[in-house]
Formats: sequence, structure tokens, C-alpha cells
Amino acid sequence: MMKRRKFITGAALGASALALNACHRAEEKSKGDLHVIKAKKVTLKLATSWPAHFPIMGTGVDTFAKRCGELSDGTLEIKVFAKNILVPAMQVFDATSAAQIDAFHSGVYYWKGKNPSFSIFGGMPLGLTSEEMITWLKFGGGYELWRELYGKFNLYPLIGGTTGPQMGGWFKKEINSLADLKGLKMRIPGLGGEVMKRLGVNPVLLPAGEIYTALERGTIDATEWVGPALDSMMGFAKAADYYYTGWHEPGSILEITFNKARWEKLSKEHRAIITAAAAEMTGNMLQEFRYENAKAMASLPKNVQIKTFPEEMMKAAKSALHDVLRDESEKSADFKKVLASYQAFEKLNKPWDDISTKNFLEIRS
Ligand code: CA
Repeated sequence: MMKRRKFITGAALGASALALNACHRAEEKSKGDLHVIKAKKVTLKLATSWPAHFPIMGTGVDTFAKRCGELSDGTLEIKVFAKNILVPAMQVFDATSAAQIDAFHSGVYYWKGKNPSFSIFGGMPLGLTSEEMITWLKFGGGYELWRELYGKFNLYPLIGGTTGPQMGGWFKKEINSLADLKGLKMRIPGLGGEVMKRLGVNPVLLPAGEIYTALERGTIDATEWVGPALDSMMGFAKAADYYYTGWHEPGSILEITFNKARWEKLSKEHRAIITAAAAEMTGNMLQEFRYENAKAMASLPKNVQIKTFPEEMMKAAKSALHDVLRDESEKSADFKKVLASYQAFEKLNKPWDDISTKNFLEIRS
């Protein structure tokens, strides 16, 4: 009886989807422990785009793997490989697609070269927050489109965390007008980089390990990264004084993506466990980012000045984004289709968000 109760409690706490299965197994056990049904052990190789145990993102996937082991009673082992151990950071998509590895954990917008529409699943400048993105993906048709388009690469994606709102970046000089952006060299990827380009910025891509030195030496004038928690670790405050509030990554989505054929071969139970552990990881990551950012914000060095970009710049950014989305839609039918789904949710969500969250936050402040 004790065993049975432990089983059911564990399942209810961990993942309600598993409760039925666990009950069934507990039933088998209580019938006299003679033939305990235990699934065959499965080991999956998962490569990430981060260094080993990288704070929040890397530790998040470590916990995901641990939870898969716990929830499956040890029958599902996910071996996590940090970037460049099995596969270079930016080749995890191709390696999983080709079944050289089973899965990867990375950022979705890295793959816009594969299909421009993928950048939308990763988040949109001036667009949906993390919570809104997850809502669109889960309830607004986003997941169906994402899985359809990734299916063409023999991949099956799951949301694998989210960053919450990111900051606008570190600048060596204050930005008081649109003119101040002209010719500025800034490390900024994705659709945000496209928008900045149309505002006169020269966007550059640099590997994480080279950003600080480039900023410190003035090879670049500005850089975005994530938020106070991870930015503090990079030491940007020693190279730039102006820290701008965010607009270009209001809720970036990370992914845990599986080789589709491998995914389909997994047992129903293992698929349910992975799905539950990925959802748990997504919630945890959003909460951990919030907490760690709040703490880091409270202890920024004295030289750092928090700034908000001028209104005329944000107005120009909105108009440039509109042009970027129009141009991408003309070039790619998939981009147009995904954007239509995203914007339909945006339109549905906004009136309710305005009178609930937005209104409340204004009252509260
Ligand atoms: Ca970023």
C-alpha cells in the first residue's frame, strides 16, 4: 500500500498526464510484485548550443534530463552534451535532422537561414511576451505550424524554456536621437538586427566569447545579450555605461527538439514524460530568469545608467519592423502563413491584455 501511495503522489506532483499510467503500474505491483512491468531503458543524446551548466539555460536542460530520469523510474536517460562536445553549437539543428544525435536544446531564431518563418517561433521585436508566445504556440495554432514546418527537416519541436523580457543592450554612448544610431556597430542578431539595420545601425554577429573584448576595445559600439543576470556575468558594465530597456526580444523561446523518426519510436509513456518535463522546465526557466534578473538589477555597478530609447527611434523601429515583415512575407509563403497565425493571436489577445495585465500594472505602479 505504501508503494502504491508513493507512486500515485509522485505522478500527481510531477505530471498529471502520467497519473493513469502510474496507476496501472502500481496496480501491477500491488498484485504481487511477481512480474513488475518496467519499460526497456532508452538513452537519448541531446546536444546544446551552450557551455556546460551555463546558468539558467544550461542548468535548465540539466534539470530537464534529471526529471526525465526520475519520472520514468530510470527507464529514460537523456545524456546532455554541452556545445562543441559532440556537435558545434550552430550545427545542432542539422545533426539532429540527420539523426547523428537524437535531440538538441537551442534558440529558435538561430535557424532562420533554414526557413525565414522559424524566426517568428523564436519571438518578435515589439511583439508577444514569453507568456503570450507560449499561449500562441499552445492554443493559438503556433505549435501545429511549427511542427509542420520542422517536420520537413525530420524534426519535432517542444518549447524548451523562455527568457522573459530581454534588455535593449549596452551602449558606450547615449542615444538621444535616430541620428545617433547612424553607423553604429552593434552585436544584435535576428529580426531585431534587421530592424536596427534599417535604422542605420551596422548589425554584427559575434560568438559569445568575443563580445566583451570587442565592446571594451571599441570594435563594436554596442551589444545586446539577455538581461541583468546573464549580462552581469559577461562584465559589460566595465565596457559601457548606458544600459537600455528592451524592445527587440520581449519573450524569446528556446526549444528542445527531437529527431522526428526517433521521437515517434519512443513509447507513449516516454513521450508524455518528455513533454511534461519540457513544460516544467519552461515554467521554471521563466521564473528563474525573473528572480535572477531582479537580484542582478538591484546590484548593478554604480556607473551603469538605465536608459529608454527615444520615442522617435521606437516609432521608426515599428515602421521598419512593418517593412521587414512585409518584405519577408513577399519572399516566403511559409513566413506569410506563420505571421498570419501570429498576428491573428496578437489581435485576439490585445484587447483582453489591455484591460487586464496592462491596466492592472498601470494601477499597481
Ligand atoms: Ca538577446
